[in-house]
Amino acid sequence: MSKKTLGLDDRLLDYLRSVSLRESDVLGQLRSETANHPWANMQIAAEQGQFMALLVQLLGATKTLEIGVFTGYSSLAIALALPPNGKVIACDVSEEYTSIARRYWQAAGVADKIDLRLAPALETLDELIGSGQRGSFDFVFIDADKENYENYYERSLLLLRPGGLIAIDNVLWSGKVADPEIQDANTQAIRNLNEKLHQDERVTLSLVSIADGLTLALKR
Ligand code: CA
Repeated sequence: MSKKTLGLDDRLLDYLRSVSLRESDVLGQLRSETANHPWANMQIAAEQGQFMALLVQLLGATKTLEIGVFTGYSSLAIALALPPNGKVIACDVSEEYTSIARRYWQAAGVADKIDLRLAPALETLDELIGSGQRGSFDFVFIDADKENYENYYERSLLLLRPGGLIAIDNVLWSGKVADPEIQDANTQAIRNLNEKLHQDERVTLSLVSIADGLTLALKR
């Protein structure tokens, strides 16, 4: 679902990539390995990884958080964009998927920038909030179980500094959010968050139609 940008045909997407993608060898190898995985569509698109890496640089970020690691493409893209003292706190529950991620973090020489927390992300976020880290993060990427999106968003907003950015993945959900016939819990959770964010005066908002839809919410 996030393999390509919604609404772009293959020829135009190939062109976009041919004139803009600068994927490092390690990222390319990780993408190829993950392509054979049964849940390969959970990996973000290469152009989205590059876009988020640019955002991280634009923010001058050093302290970042990722909610939902899978095989590690986005955390690797972000870690590569961070300065030497930059950190990613990476939350996931899967030992299996993140073991692939860890191999590539090592191979790329950024393993020391990534602090993997294998636990339900809400627990990790509550721990960070409880240990005085409110207002200290520059960037958060939310890409995990959709029914908890609103919980992740609220906690992320607490953890973010003013001027920090939250990026939320899959907000167009393969187009299902716009189909009133589709009422499953995941689709409804994304719809609810999209509608909430539209009215949320705590952030400056843009929903970018890259890949499967990426909402950017800048904390005021
Ligand atoms: Ca995703």
